Amino acid sequence: MNNLSHLLRGIPPSATVAISDKARALKAQGRDVIALAGGDPDFKTPQHIIDAAIKAMNAGDTNYPPAQGKPKLLEAVAAKLERENGVKVSPSQVIVTPGGKWALYLAIAALVNPGDEVMILEPAWVSYDPIVSLNGAVPVHVSLPNDQNFLVTEEILRQHLSPKTKAIMVNSPSNPTGRVLTRGEVDAIVKVANAADLYVISDEIYEYLLFDGAVHYSLAAEPGMAERTITINGFSKAYAMTGWRLGWLAAPQPIVKLAMKLQTHSVTSAASFSMAAGIAALNGPQDCIQEMVASYAARRRFMLDALAEIPGIACAPIEGAFYLFPSFPHSTLNSVQVADALLEKADIACTPGIEFGAAGEGHVRFSIATAMSDLERAVERLARVVPGL
Ligand code: PMP
Ligand code: GLU
Repeated sequence: MNNLSHLLRGIPPSATVAISDKARALKAQGRDVIALAGGDPDFKTPQHIIDAAIKAMNAGDTNYPPAQGKPKLLEAVAAKLERENGVKVSPSQVIVTPGGKWALYLAIAALVNPGDEVMILEPAWVSYDPIVSLNGAVPVHVSLPNDQNFLVTEEILRQHLSPKTKAIMVNSPSNPTGRVLTRGEVDAIVKVANAADLYVISDEIYEYLLFDGAVHYSLAAEPGMAERTITINGFSKAYAMTGWRLGWLAAPQPIVKLAMKLQTHSVTSAASFSMAAGIAALNGPQDCIQEMVASYAARRRFMLDALAEIPGIACAPIEGAFYLFPSFPHSTLNSVQVADALLEKADIACTPGIEFGAAGEGHVRFSIATAMSDLERAVERLARVVPGL
C-alpha cells in the first residue's frame, strides 16, 4: 500500500463527515444518539425551491447543463453579490459548483504552485488544510488566540508572512468558532493582503447567520480587494440544501478561466435540476432564510443559557454560524477524549476541537442546526455528564 498516493495518505479523512456518518450508523443500530456533529440544517428545503427542481426534471432538464452554470443562475449570483454584498462582478466571473467545498477546491487549485504558502486562520473548518495540501501548496497554520476569542490582528498575520505566502483563507461567520469578523479585523486582513499582494479566499457560506447585531462584511467589496478575492458561497446553509450539492465562486476572470479547466476535467458541472432549484432560491422570496435564522437564534439563546448553568463547561456567545465551541476548563481530558466521553456516557456526537487545528484543542464543536427537542435532551445529558469529565 506504500505506493498509493502520498498526498492522500498524508491527509486525514474529513472528521465532520466521518463523525456524522458514525452518528447516523449508531442511530440506525437503534442507539439513541443525539447528533451535534455535522453542520446540516434540520429544516426541509423550502417548497418553492423543491418545486422548481421537480418542474425542471419533468420538463426534460436532465442533460448536461452548461459547465460553468446555467446563464440565469450566473446572472442571479452576480445580481445577489451586487445587491447584498456590494460586490460587482459580471456573470462570466461566476462558476456554479457541486457544493461550496468544490468551489474552495477550484479556488486553491487555480491559485497555487508547488511550495506556495496559504495562511489558514485557526480554528478553521476541517477541509481547508487538506484542500491546500492536495494542491501541492503548504498550509500555514495561524493559531488565533484562544484567550482573546480568536481575534485576528494585523500583527498575527504579519508574523506568518513569508516571501512564499500566496493567499489567506478567511471564513466569517466562522465554522467552528461562531466568530464574525469585526470591522477592525476586516481592516487588518485588507491591509495585509494589499500590502503583501496576497489573494484572499473569502468563504461566506454562513453570511446570513448573524446574531446580536453582528454585521457581515464581504471582503471583495473592500478597497483594493476585488482583484485579489475569490468569494465562496453556496446554497447548503442559507436555504437548507446540503443534499443538493450546489455552491459557487466569484473571482477575477483569469482565475475563472483556470478553474474552469479543472471543473470540466473533473465534475463537468453541478447537477442541472439543482441549478434550477438554485435559480428559484436566489430569485424567489427570501423570508425562508429569516425564518430559519430566527429559529437558530432561539436555539443559540437556549443553549447559551442552559450551558451557563452547567459546571465545567464554558461557552462564548457565538456571533454567527450555527456552531457552539465550548471548552471544559476543569477537565484534564483533551478534546478527542471529551468527545469520546460524551458519546460513550451521554450518547452525544460532537466534533473534537483539535480537528480544527491546534488552536481548537480544549474545545468541542456542537452544531445547533439540530431540532430544539434534541438540544433540550442534549442539555439534560450534558448536565449529568460534564461535571464529572
Ligand atoms: N465552508 C464551510 C466553512 C463549511 O462549513 C462548509 C460545510 N458545509 C462548506 C464550506 C461547504 O459546504 P457545501 O459543500 O455543502 O456547500
Ligand atoms: N460543513 C459541515 C460541517 O462542518 C458539513 C460537513 C462537512 O462538509 O464538513 O459539519
